[in-house]
Amino acid sequence: MNYRHAYHAGNFADVFKHILLTRLALYLQRKDKPIRLFDTHAGIGLYARDSEEQAKTGEAALGIEKVLAATTNPAIEELIAPWRTAVNAHWPGSIPGSPLIAKAMLRKSDRLTLFEKHPDDAPLLKERFADDWQTRVYPSDGWLAAVSQIPPKESRGLALVDPPFEDGKDFDRMIDFLKNSTQRWPGGMVALWYPVKKRDHTDEWLSTLKGMGFPKLLNAELYIREPRFPNMLNGCGMVIANAPYVLPDELATLLPWLAGVMRQDKGAGHRVQDLSKR
Ligand code: SAM
Repeated sequence: MNYRHAYHAGNFADVFKHILLTRLALYLQRKDKPIRLFDTHAGIGLYARDSEEQAKTGEAALGIEKVLAATTNPAIEELIAPWRTAVNAHWPGSIPGSPLIAKAMLRKSDRLTLFEKHPDDAPLLKERFADDWQTRVYPSDGWLAAVSQIPPKESRGLALVDPPFEDGKDFDRMIDFLKNSTQRWPGGMVALWYPVKKRDHTDEWLSTLKGMGFPKLLNAELYIREPRFPNMLNGCGMVIANAPYVLPDELATLLPWLAGVMRQDKGAGHRVQDLSKR
C-alpha cells in the first residue's frame, strides 16, 4: 500500500469527486428520513496545505485553489455551495478529504461509516473522528467490510468508492463491489470514482458495465486535457448507481464550468452517459 493521498489532496479529481458527493448527499436528504453514507477508501480526512507532500506535487494549486478563486454565477454558486461551506471550515490551513466533506453534510439523524486499511492512516482517521457520535471508523478492507454492512438500517444512502488504483485490479474490484452492493441494497446509491488516462481503456470498462444490465447507472467524466496520454491523469469519472434524476441537469451546468476553470491543456471537457439497461 504505497498510495498516499496527501500528495493529491485538493487536485482536480478531488474537487470533482467531493462536489459530486455533496450533490448526491443533498439529494438523498430531500426526504425527511435518515441516510447512511459509506466511504470505503477514506484516507486520513484532513490534509495540511503546508506539508512536504503538497509542496512536491503542487496539484492543489491547479484544482481546489483555482475553483475557490474562480468567478461563478448564481447557478454555479448554488451547486457548489455545500462543498464550499465544507471546505471553508478548514481552508486555508488544510484541505478536507471525503470523510470531512461527508461529515459536513450530515443532519442529526444521518450516519457516516468510514473504512481505511492503511496501517498508518487508519489510526489517524480514527483519532480525527474520536469524539464524533455520528461516525464510525473501521481500520479494515473497504471492499469487504463495507459490503458486509450493506444494506444499512437506513434504507436511503450512498457508498462512495474511491480506491487508489495501485495494482491494476481496482477496476475489476469496482465491478464486483457494484454487483454485490446493489444486489443487497437495490435502492442504495453507489458512486465509483475512477481515473481517466487513455480513454480507450476506461471506455472498455464502461462498456462492460453497460452490458451488465444495471437498471439505473449514470457515468460522468471530467477532463483537464485530452484523455489520450497513458502516463498522465488527464481526467476522472464517476459511475453512479441509482443517480438522482436531477443529476444530469446539474452536471450539464457544473461540468463545463469545472473543466474551464481547471483545464490544463487543449481537450479539456466533460461527458455524461447513461449506462442503464434499455
Ligand atoms: N476518499 C479519500 C478522499 O477523497 O479524501 C481519498 C482516498 S485515497 C484515493 C485511497 C485510500 O484508500 C488511501 O488512503 C489508501 O490507504 C486506502 N486503501 C487502499 N486499499 C484499501 C482497502 N482495501 N480498503 C480500505 N482502504 C484502502
